[in-house]
Amino acid sequence: MAVTVRTLENFVGGDWVASTGDNARAIVSPVTGETLAEAPDASIDDVDRAVAAARDAQPKWAALSAWERAKVCHAIAVLIEERREEFARELSLEQGKPYAAEALGDIDETAENFRIAAEDVKRMETAIIPSQDPDKRILTFRKPNGVYAGITPWNFPTLIPVELIAPGIAIGNTIVMKPSEWTPIAMANFVQIMADAGLPDGVVNVVYGAGDVGERLVTHPGVNGVGFVGSHGTAEKIVRAAGLKRSLIEASGNGPVVVCEDADLQRAAQGAVFGGFYCAGQVCCATERVLVHEGIHDSFLEEVVKVAEGWPLGDPFDDSTMVGPMNNEPTAQKMDLHLEDAVKQGANVVLGGSRASDRPTQLYYEPTVVTEVGIDTLINRQETFGPIVPLIRVNSDEEALAVANDSHLGLQAAVYTSSLKRAFRYIDNLRVGNVVVNDSTDYWEAHEPFGGASGTQSGWGRIGGRYTMLDMSDLKTVVLDVGGLD
Ligand code: ADP
Repeated sequence: MAVTVRTLENFVGGDWVASTGDNARAIVSPVTGETLAEAPDASIDDVDRAVAAARDAQPKWAALSAWERAKVCHAIAVLIEERREEFARELSLEQGKPYAAEALGDIDETAENFRIAAEDVKRMETAIIPSQDPDKRILTFRKPNGVYAGITPWNFPTLIPVELIAPGIAIGNTIVMKPSEWTPIAMANFVQIMADAGLPDGVVNVVYGAGDVGERLVTHPGVNGVGFVGSHGTAEKIVRAAGLKRSLIEASGNGPVVVCEDADLQRAAQGAVFGGFYCAGQVCCATERVLVHEGIHDSFLEEVVKVAEGWPLGDPFDDSTMVGPMNNEPTAQKMDLHLEDAVKQGANVVLGGSRASDRPTQLYYEPTVVTEVGIDTLINRQETFGPIVPLIRVNSDEEALAVANDSHLGLQAAVYTSSLKRAFRYIDNLRVGNVVVNDSTDYWEAHEPFGGASGTQSGWGRIGGRYTMLDMSDLKTVVLDVGGLD
């Protein structure tokens, strides 16, 4: 059945507004190759209007009580849940992730983010600080930063925008979102839901386009803060452009997993495969490399192959499919390049290793397992972002830590061991923001703090419920002299 091609419009001040931009881009499904929508590139005027709407709405929205803002967040969650299947289908079609194995869960977590924000915002108490002067009282209040630019990627086109929107608006900010140019449809669906749930006009606005539109938004004088999730190269450009504006930056990872001799190998294999193949490996905390202690290397590999064979590539709408197509050609080409480079440097392809030739698009990549991956490979050095489990041999904890930390990225790592002492050696010494012990790098919960380690290019600030609210707000300190008061 041919799909109806939607024409997306910007969402500004509570209304759908046709873009005044000159260009539009076709949004093509990685699943079927069909054009799903035409998305406009926002013009300078479009961005100005969206920022003006957010500025106009912000003081009124912030003046509501936390309870009133929380009520709207709960109402949004209810409406998302009511349309769960429909949103998950559209998400699969636009992004490529399997409907049953992943997309439904993404929608559930998207709704959950609004619930968490609604609950957390009611508990954002601040300190009353003792004063050196008996007549003084020092109070602190948490105040929203104002108007945010939200710039988000294509791997989780419902969840990631909402990780910024839900806590951001709950604490009293307003926002102009620019979703990824690869996956703008999800945001178009969601913003209407927010309006239907009673979100006042202008609190969340959406403009479409690529990096140039994002940059216009980030540098706009009416924007106070930037929430960004995407690649580290773009993060760096954004931070330079944003200057002293507040920013929450969650960028790339190079997820090392360490498998020690004393690990439960079945569990480690399941975690490594899940981390490598979930969302076709296109996750910032994906398992990007597995550092395997020499003594158990071969038995671990056997387990990995067994588990990996149970991850079929296929049509995302077939319930048995575990891996769908990659989202876009540049990312699939990066996978091609990294694999070719590893093989040239001596790696063995044990499973997969190429794109499937019998699918509706060229984006279906066979889930891949490679061994004997060298330290100087692109796979070890950079983020591959594809369905791959690459094994690297290590001889000691020192070596594992050195290889894991020899990276410009430091987001999330995992270690498999049955020793608490050894686990803490890794916890204390891995230069990452998050460490998972005995589960996948792709483990997270919506309310836990998630983000990069200082000194790496994985960003700063923390995504996750109240932790995002802390980043998207400031403390205002009040010194009150009560000596002269009646
Ligand atoms: P990914 O490949 O993970 O989507 P990108 O960093 O390429 O990561 O893109 C993430 C988001 O950043 C997208 O919405 C993209 O349009 C936006 N973007 C890209 N370049 C810029 C830029 N220079 N300024 C602002 N936003 C940008």
